[in-house]
Amino acid sequence: MFRISQYLREVVEAERTGVYPHPKRHGSPPGPVVIWNLVRRCNLTCKHCYALSADHDYPNELNYAEVCTVMDDLKAFRVPVLILSGGEPLLRADLFDIAARAKAMNFYVGLSTNGTLIDAAMADRIAAADFNYVGISLDGIAAVHDRFRRKEGAFDASLAAVRHLQQRGVKVGLRYTMTAMNADQLPALLRLMKDEGAQKFYFSHLNYAGRGNIHRAKDAHFVATREAMEQLFDAAWADAQAGSEREYVTGNNDADGPFLLQWLAQRAPRWVEDVRQRLQAWGGNASGLYVANIDNEGIVHPDTMWWHHKLGSVRERPFSEIWSDTTEPLMAGLKQQPRAVHGRCGDCAHLSICGGNTRVRAQQTTGDAWASDPGCYLTDEEIGFVSEVA
Ligand code: SF4
Repeated sequence: MFRISQYLREVVEAERTGVYPHPKRHGSPPGPVVIWNLVRRCNLTCKHCYALSADHDYPNELNYAEVCTVMDDLKAFRVPVLILSGGEPLLRADLFDIAARAKAMNFYVGLSTNGTLIDAAMADRIAAADFNYVGISLDGIAAVHDRFRRKEGAFDASLAAVRHLQQRGVKVGLRYTMTAMNADQLPALLRLMKDEGAQKFYFSHLNYAGRGNIHRAKDAHFVATREAMEQLFDAAWADAQAGSEREYVTGNNDADGPFLLQWLAQRAPRWVEDVRQRLQAWGGNASGLYVANIDNEGIVHPDTMWWHHKLGSVRERPFSEIWSDTTEPLMAGLKQQPRAVHGRCGDCAHLSICGGNTRVRAQQTTGDAWASDPGCYLTDEEIGFVSEVA
């Protein structure tokens, strides 16, 4: 996850004081953030669902006792954050028991939902459960969202959920996945976020693979991505300058880091080197390192985009053991610093910031997890890459 607001707030602070507020490092890093797909069933069948969920029960899901055993291991492994997800997590009958146990164990507990099941009564339960954060997916306004979600009225229901939760003091964020079909919705969604008082905007890049030999400056998807990122940076910058606590974050494309540096060079060039250091400390893509996924059957994956790659089952080995096992070739490669990427990623001037980006895109388009990420929207010139085939 790329935290735009965090860096831009630091720049605003630096502009005010004349000193960049580099945070102090404390001890060894904690375990990974765990995104936990507790249930695969969903009341919607969205176009871009990675879980390919449907509205029926799935066999072989972890039961409550198994979830508790995993949770104990996660705590001992110093996992700080659990994001409870699905499918639609609210369809899991014991979701609130799981959440209550996680809260009692002092995890930061997030809920990732489509929002359509949150009426006033459900909002009461969510508020009482004291989730630290609830992310609600919105792909556009009204009919656009309904088309994506393949359900008429889905937008109204999700928006009502945002309002119910806001009224009860729950921290709410909007989650938006940009595709060619809803790229024009971003300004309206950013406005909606402000109008509704939502505290966070999560922009998810589509796991776009593109074609092999692309002219990145002309590819429509990349042009739209760059425009979207500039809109997000502008919004986050304006909020940071106004002292707003609203947060803007992105996911699934770590080229956002170098692109922010380029953007910053036009706005606050004095602080570019400080921000570069901060981004290098962040290190870019976190799959297999600082973010992990457990699916509904207890299979561990390097992140949610790697559902086709199984690292092991928590029914057979504890998560902590599976996660630390670098005899598994993919995990060894993801944990290697720097990652042994090649092609334009290997020669890229920003590898230490971006970390080689989303390896699953490289693997799915070429069969080689260490090839260039075809979803990188920076031009060859911007990454200092000189193609041998001019
Ligand atoms: S070329 Fe690769 S390493 Fe460089 S910014 Fe793009 S995705 Fe990241």
